[in-house]
Amino acid sequence: MVNTPGVRVLHARNLITPPTASVPYRGEFGSALAEVLGRHVEVTEIEDERGFYRAFSEEIRRARRSLWLWSPWVATRLNSLLPDLRAAADRGVRINVFIRADTDKLQKQETNQVLIAELRQVVDTVVPVYEMHQKIVVIDEQTVLLGSLNSLSQKSTREIMLTMRGGHFARKLLEHEHAATFADPPSCGRCGGDEIEIRRYKKDDWVWRCYAAACKTTPKGGTNAWNQKIRLARGR
Ligand SMILES: [Zn+2]
Repeated sequence: MVNTPGVRVLHARNLITPPTASVPYRGEFGSALAEVLGRHVEVTEIEDERGFYRAFSEEIRRARRSLWLWSPWVATRLNSLLPDLRAAADRGVRINVFIRADTDKLQKQETNQVLIAELRQVVDTVVPVYEMHQKIVVIDEQTVLLGSLNSLSQKSTREIMLTMRGGHFARKLLEHEHAATFADPPSCGRCGGDEIEIRRYKKDDWVWRCYAAACKTTPKGGTNAWNQKIRLARGR
């Protein structure tokens, strides 16, 4: 508590507040201090593969607005997560998922394709990304789970995941991953379908690419898939 004569008392609890809370009185000094503190990240947990799923389940149950997932593979692990994901979706949490594209030899297995179809029934978007390898969870633009664990497929491997809290960091991470842009793919400009994946070519060029088998054959033959450069937010 900082108490200067003639100035209203600044309570420490007013310096960091949830993003949804109304901003309390801070004064000039307090506002500047809150701005600095707001950029900090608190690491609240370190989980291995055993502790992660209990923590993950609790975080999904607490989610109120948004859940972003980057999990390269989808496998039988999904079955135990679907009830919590479905409940979150039912109470209005918007869920966006990025997974590795079907060209991957694990991902294209029939059992995993069935699970991906089930996932698509529950969440708002599932966007495949060629050679994706990030493992990230972002909840309500406030909580980040980040590390080595594939949240939708982990089976028996040793892993580590950090739980980090901080709205500024969470939003910065979402921006870094172009989350909003990548979760909104266009329809294919050739076949009009929605089987669109993301690829990254040399010189940082991100593209939308149609992976519909029927679309890859052009009138002249060949396998020239439809591509469109992704327009990223300015300055990125
Ligand atoms: Zn197409």
